[in-house]
Amino acid sequence: MRIDRVDIIRVKNPFVHPFETSFVKFVERDALIIKIYSEGLIGYGECKAFHAPLYNPEDNGTCLHVIRNFLVPSILHQDIEGPAEYMERVSFVIGNRLAKASIENALWDLKTKREEKSLKTLIGGFYNEVKVGVSLGIEPTIPALLNKIEKYLGEGYHRTKLKIKPGKDIEILKEVRRHYPDITLTVDANSGYTLADIELFKAMDEFNLEYIEQPLAEDDIVDHAVLQKAIRTPICLDESIVSVDTARKALELNSCKIINIKSSRCGGIGESIKIHDLCMQHNVPVWCGGMTELGIGRVQNISLASLPNFTLAHDIAASNRYFADDITTPVVNTTERCTLIVPDETNGVRYEVDETAIDRMMVNREIFR
Ligand SMILES: [Mg+2]
Repeated sequence: MRIDRVDIIRVKNPFVHPFETSFVKFVERDALIIKIYSEGLIGYGECKAFHAPLYNPEDNGTCLHVIRNFLVPSILHQDIEGPAEYMERVSFVIGNRLAKASIENALWDLKTKREEKSLKTLIGGFYNEVKVGVSLGIEPTIPALLNKIEKYLGEGYHRTKLKIKPGKDIEILKEVRRHYPDITLTVDANSGYTLADIELFKAMDEFNLEYIEQPLAEDDIVDHAVLQKAIRTPICLDESIVSVDTARKALELNSCKIINIKSSRCGGIGESIKIHDLCMQHNVPVWCGGMTELGIGRVQNISLASLPNFTLAHDIAASNRYFADDITTPVVNTTERCTLIVPDETNGVRYEVDETAIDRMMVNREIFR
């Protein structure tokens, strides 16, 4: 397919519930939308970077630079076979996976339109619907947390994940388990601990957690292997897994028993499929993580999660948990079973990009033709 034009559209969409980290307040989703024009068709991709390099070394500023100066010139006015060939072509760009994934995602979207097949069909998806879990931040008090858990259990969420940090961990777990002895419960430490905390993680074995997510540093699969050997609870790696190669090393070292795949962090849908397949060979289940995506990214996550080894509940929520407005028609919503239906050719579920919504949220547009 010949690439005729690429637009990079910067949008801002306010969060319904702004949230704060120790450095920065997130009041809106600041994102780049990629629109690729090819032979009369349009493919959309969403860059998952944030406005600042907090979760990931990349941010929207670095992504814009890389997309504009290196990735777009690699495809504009050229023939390209598809997403896999594009990834080979831009392999001269080191790292910058979120930037690369935004164009890769748009090329997958173009492929669905050229071949008139759903993304689920193109990637060999299996599930018709996928289960949704809830992820809860650190609340000021335990009663406030228990209220939230009660609310989301009432809405049918299939797994409750609690964010933890040093000093806000074991006491919280004790109270939550006392009130809810049987719920599917996990914790996410976002790399907040070190091996010096090994006794703490041993003590967590008694809480029957489905997994402990990313307890140690993101570049440390060696220490994760030591920790996994010392505890019964499965470790789930999130930030550590940025490619099929890091996944292979983590599995060889027995650093984890579960992997959270965030496709953009791994450079896109193609690399995520490779990680999925590798984990399946090793009997290591995976699930799909979220990055407060807008509709384009959210819908692609649902399709990715239809692959057979995505067996645990996902962090792909209904759009309205985050936003009052979104950029797809319809906006992503859960069923009464707290699942998401995977769009395919047969079930009538289809999401279109809402250009008027993009216009409402647009801050800036760059056109390359
Ligand atoms: Mg995580």
